[in-house]
Amino acid sequence: MTKQLHPQTLAVRSQMPHTYQMEHSTPLYLTSSFVFETAENMRAAFADENDDNIYSRYSNPSVDEFANKVAILEKAEAGFAVASGMAAVFSTFMALMKTGDHLLCCRSIFGGTVTVVTKFLDKFGIEYTFVPADDTSVWEKEIKPNTKMVYLETPTNPQLELVDLGEVGKLAKKRNLIYAVDNCFATPVLQNPIDFGADLVIHSATKWMDGQGRVLGGAVAGKKELIHEIYLFCRNSGPTLSAFNAWVLSKSLETLDVRIWRHCENALKVAEELEKHPKIKWLKYPFLPSHPQYAIAKKQMKGGGGIVCFELEGGVEAGRKFMDALEILSLTPNLGDSRSIASHPASTTHSKLSEKERLAVGITPGLIRVSVGLEYAGDVIDDIKQALDKS
Ligand SMILES: *Cc1c(COP(=O)(O)O)cnc(C)c1O
Repeated sequence: MTKQLHPQTLAVRSQMPHTYQMEHSTPLYLTSSFVFETAENMRAAFADENDDNIYSRYSNPSVDEFANKVAILEKAEAGFAVASGMAAVFSTFMALMKTGDHLLCCRSIFGGTVTVVTKFLDKFGIEYTFVPADDTSVWEKEIKPNTKMVYLETPTNPQLELVDLGEVGKLAKKRNLIYAVDNCFATPVLQNPIDFGADLVIHSATKWMDGQGRVLGGAVAGKKELIHEIYLFCRNSGPTLSAFNAWVLSKSLETLDVRIWRHCENALKVAEELEKHPKIKWLKYPFLPSHPQYAIAKKQMKGGGGIVCFELEGGVEAGRKFMDALEILSLTPNLGDSRSIASHPASTTHSKLSEKERLAVGITPGLIRVSVGLEYAGDVIDDIKQALDKS
């Protein structure tokens, strides 16, 4: 067909060519290595003279199918899939930076990424500077002669701050930096960082891409030559995505578009319904006009996403009571699931920090993050309301 197909169609239809069994759904390639008919074929594969599979740490059809779909959805030249979101983040840093390089990094990033930057990059002599999400105008001042990469996440976890992707894109281009964006919260359905100048887009596929809380996975999509470096690092260091997880994730991408729009619809209903609730001090959702960066949300996102966060009037104690009173929402440290999930960072993920440290990273005492699922929105709202009454 000559017609350029829409990404939504490609997410459903792009798959491995079928085998002689003529299966409709792609089979799972559960094999650690691949056989060769002749010594010459094997030699040619090892000499990179063709794309033949050799060993599943290097490539596997199930993994490649998933990675290719992520690349298509992110409008990228190439993609590579790995075992988890953190494997994607770490491999990107390791493949593209070296001792003496400097990373310009947005302050509001996933906790695991903060640890990788501060504890591990530091150990390898890679410098870093944290910059604020809500004011990209100060970022340029922090660029040094050795700055190699600029890294951010938008919307951020869990405070839903937004970073202006286009502004950072201009800066990265002007100063010749590798521009990497963790697009986990928005997914390619709602936001394509490459449209705003990003070179690399990173995903924790564990979240919305799987969407049903089953498997861990990660992916990086972007410029061909950068992805090749990441591939070489992974092929030799081994953060390989299992074929089974890749097969699950590739299937999941077929329904990503429908799921994400329903998550957005439900989350907007939850946000609108609870914004004025007397037990809630403030509530944030990117597509509510009250969001401080609503204009940026509208500029770079097609929908507000599935996460809503709010601050309870009663602080930490109210947070615990709220969590205990929930009857439908799950208490689990994940997000992006068909089942709605609530979390209270101050008493869980960030409990080891002091109150002062928590506030510095935006974790207020009564902050609740809700990942709105695919249940009937009215039931989710009612559950949150009855729990608010008891908090
Ligand atoms: C969960 C998450 C990660 C890490 O992904 P894993 O699959 O858990 O390793 C990275 N970035 C963001 C924004 C996340 O939410």
